[in-house]
Amino acid sequence: MRILITGVTGMTGSHLAEYLLTMEGLEVFGTYRWRSRMENLDDLKKAGRLSIIGDSSTMVTASDFDSALSDRVQAASLNLVEADITDPFSMKRIIAAVKPDRIFHLAAQSYVPGSWNAPAETLNRNILGQLNLLEAVREAKLDPLIHIAGSSEEYGYVLPEELPLKETNPLRPLSPYGVSKVAQEMLAYQYFKSYGLKNIVTRGFNHEGPRRGEVFVTSNVAKQIAEIEKGLKPPVLYIGDPSSKRDWSDVRDFVCAYWLAMEKCVLGEVYNIGSGVAREVGQMVDMLLSMTDAHIEVKVDPSRLRPSDARVLVADATKFKKATGWEPQIPFEKTLRDILDYWRARV
Ligand code: NDP
Repeated sequence: MRILITGVTGMTGSHLAEYLLTMEGLEVFGTYRWRSRMENLDDLKKAGRLSIIGDSSTMVTASDFDSALSDRVQAASLNLVEADITDPFSMKRIIAAVKPDRIFHLAAQSYVPGSWNAPAETLNRNILGQLNLLEAVREAKLDPLIHIAGSSEEYGYVLPEELPLKETNPLRPLSPYGVSKVAQEMLAYQYFKSYGLKNIVTRGFNHEGPRRGEVFVTSNVAKQIAEIEKGLKPPVLYIGDPSSKRDWSDVRDFVCAYWLAMEKCVLGEVYNIGSGVAREVGQMVDMLLSMTDAHIEVKVDPSRLRPSDARVLVADATKFKKATGWEPQIPFEKTLRDILDYWRARV
C-alpha cells in the first residue's frame, strides 16, 4: 500500500512517517519544499531511512520523475518528493506519479497568530492548497482514502454550557486559521458528495511533543526554560494569556489516531480527537517549571495576547473513540518532559 503524507517535515508528519515505517507492507512518501527545515527528519536520516526521490534537479518532467520513482523508491524508507500545495501543477505531478492509496493531508500554515498577520496567505495555502490536492486526485482518476487534518480552532467562540465540545456544536472560528480549517472541512465534504472522494475529516485538539515548532506555547515555554538553564537569557519567562484552557495530547498518540481514522472511520464524517481534559496555559507552565531547578520569574507579555482567543477548548471525543477504540496512552507530564529535553539538547 502506498501512503503519501503532505507536510512530512512538520511535527506531526515526521512522527507519522516514523510510526508508519514500523508497519509491514507500506511504501511511505512525504512531500517537502526546497526551503523546508529538514531537522525533524534527522532521526530517519541517521537510521539510513530517508530517500530523496524527486528534487528540483531530478524532477525535470513527469516522465523523469516516473523513472526516478520506480528506480529509487525504498520500502523501508521515507521517500521524499518535492511539492508545494499552493501550486496546482506541483500537486498534479506528485499525485500522478506516486499514485497513493492513502493520503494524510497535513501540510498547512498551522500557526494561529501567524494567520492574523498573513490572513490571505493562510487562506490561500490551507484552502486552495487542499483544492489543488483534491483536484489532482480527481484528474489522476485515483480513489485513495484522504485524511484531512481539521482543528479544534474551528469551534472558536464557545459557550460554557457547550463544553466538552461535540462534533454537532456550531463552528464560530475566531481566527483566519480557524476559518481556513472550516473551509478545508467543507471542501472535503463537498468533494465527497459531488465526486465521491473518500475523505475523512478529524478535528484535532492541540497535540504536542518533541519537534513542535518553537512559536507554539508548550514548545516556546520549554525552549525559554532550557535557555535560562544554560544562562543564555535572564531568568524571566514570557507567556501569553495564562488563563486560556486547552485540551493537550501527545503527537505520538495522535499519529496512531490518524491511522485508526483511516482504518475505521466513516467516509464523509467528522470526528473530534482529543484527551477530554482541559488545562490552563498557566497550569502547563507550572508543570514545566516543576521540571527545572532554575529560579524563574513568569511575566505576561502583552504582545503575545491574541486579538480574539478561543478561551476554552476541550473535546468530547466519544464518537471517535467508539469508532476506533483509540485511547491516549502518553501522560501529559511525559509529553512536557520530552519537549523540555528536546530543547535542552538543542539550545
Ligand atoms: P507543522 O507546522 O509542524 O507542519 C506543517 C507542515 O506543512 C510542514 O511540513 C510544512 O512544510 C508543510 N507546508 C506548509 N506550507 C506548505 C506548502 N505550501 N506546500 C507544501 N507543504 C507545506 O504543523 P503540525 O504538524 O502541527 O500540524 C499538521 C496539520 O495538523 C496541519 O494541517 C495543522 O493545521 C493541523 N492541526 C495541528 C494541530 C496541533 O496541535 N499540532 C491541531 C489541529 C490541527 P515546511 O517544512 O516546508 O514549512
